[in-house]
This record gives sequence, C-alpha cells and structure tokens, in this order.
Amino acid sequence: MTTTPDRRTIVAGNWKMNKTPDETDAFLDAFTASAPTTPSVEVLLIPPFTSLDRAGRRSAGTRVRLGAQDVHEAESGAFTGAVSGAMLAACGCTYVLVGHSERRHVFGDDDAIVRCKLERALAVGLAPILCVGETLDERRADETKAVLVRQLSQGLAGLSVDALADLVIAYEPVWAIGTGETATPEQAQGAIARIRAWVAAEIEPAFADRLPILYGGSVKPANALDLLSQPDIDGALVGGASLDPDAFADIVRAGISAAEGR
Ligand code: PEP
Repeated sequence: MTTTPDRRTIVAGNWKMNKTPDETDAFLDAFTASAPTTPSVEVLLIPPFTSLDRAGRRSAGTRVRLGAQDVHEAESGAFTGAVSGAMLAACGCTYVLVGHSERRHVFGDDDAIVRCKLERALAVGLAPILCVGETLDERRADETKAVLVRQLSQGLAGLSVDALADLVIAYEPVWAIGTGETATPEQAQGAIARIRAWVAAEIEPAFADRLPILYGGSVKPANALDLLSQPDIDGALVGGASLDPDAFADIVRAGISAAEGR
C-alpha cells in the first residue's frame, strides 16, 4: 500500500504515570522553547489525569494538542476512581488512548471493554487512538495477524466511516513497549500495512488510505526517522522518550523530516 500525501503525521507522547502538574509546566516550558512547530506534524501530549488541566492551560495557544491515557466507558455515575469522557474534554483533551497494552495486560481491559471505551470517546467527541499489538509469545507462535484482526474487528466492526472519522490506530507490539527493544522498520511497516489492508477490506478503502496509523514501542531519537520514513507509518506513540523535552523534540523533528519527505 502506498502513502497518500494527505495523511496526517502525528507524534504523541504518552507519559504514563509520570509528571506532576509542576513537572508538566517545566516540560512544556522547555519543549515549546525548543521544539519546531509546523502544520505538517501534529504534536500530542498524553499526561496522567492529574496533569491534564495544567497541561491544557499551559499549552493553550500553542500547537501542542492534549490526549488522555484512558476513559471510563460509562457517561457518569458511581465509578469511584474513574474519569469520564466529558471530564477529559473539559480539561482540553481532543484525543484519548483506548486499549493501550498496559491497560489490556496490567489492568485487564479486554476487547469488549476497549470497544465500549472507544464508543464512549466517539460519543463525547474525543478522537480515539485504538492501540493494538501482539505479545512476544503471540509473535513467536505466528499469531500476530490473528491477534491484530481480533483486536481490530472487536474494536471497530460495525462502526461507520462517519462515526470513525477521527480514529487513529497505534500498532504497539507489546514486546517492544518500555523494553528498549524496537520493532525493525520492516516489522513495523509490515504489521501496519496489514492493519491498513484490514481497514480497507472491512471498513472502506478510501478511509484506510487517509487513516493515520502510528508505531509505538521504544521509539527514540536514534531510530525515529527510520521508522517514520516507512510508507505506511504515519507517526509515533512514544512512551519513555517523551518524558525528556529534548528527546521528544528530536522525535518531532524526525516526524517533520519524514512528513516533508513524502
Ligand atoms: C507507550 O507507552 O505507548 C510506549 C510505546 O512506550 P515506550 O516508548 O516507552 O516503549
């Protein structure tokens, strides 16, 4: 599958359970002072819930967009400890991760819950970033394709192109997340091309052509350009390296080079 020139490039930083509100201010001061800004790459920060409001205020008027790491599937109610989609939107979020591998494998979010969370995101106007990816055991057992198809079909089947207009997919092989082991550009390209082919076959070819699909898993300044230059890879979901404003700015630069080289 070839890259269409109008596909968006997105570089997103998932901070996981890191950074207080004051640390968020310090990051944004350093990052916005040094990171290049251009319409060719969307830059997205995904802080923990407690730093969202601060990040939203501090990044207002900049090109930095805001996302959340998770959303509860219910609209509101007696769900102690949970955060609703409307609350996230009120903090300035426009994106939310659903099905991140740590939610799936540490907190037990199964495909059915991921689907409910995705639908909740759509209902409140948040763009869902649906995370999919196989474990090391699944890859070794040659089950990568089957796992991706299961996660995609349970996450997306039956939803219309109109409903999914703001969807982003992130391919994140579980064995590459936080391990320092990155998928090779060829492995990442191969899996993402398969995801795009599934979307083309099961949803709509034109929608698949314009759908941003990101790679995530130990993206660093040193490997970002090789990954992001692959024809089907439209950006990166970055964990550890997004905590350092200089490293994250370097990954944004790689995204700009890749986007402008298309
Ligand atoms: C992630 O949290 O989505 C991620 C890819 O983490 P890391 O870059 O640290 O592997």
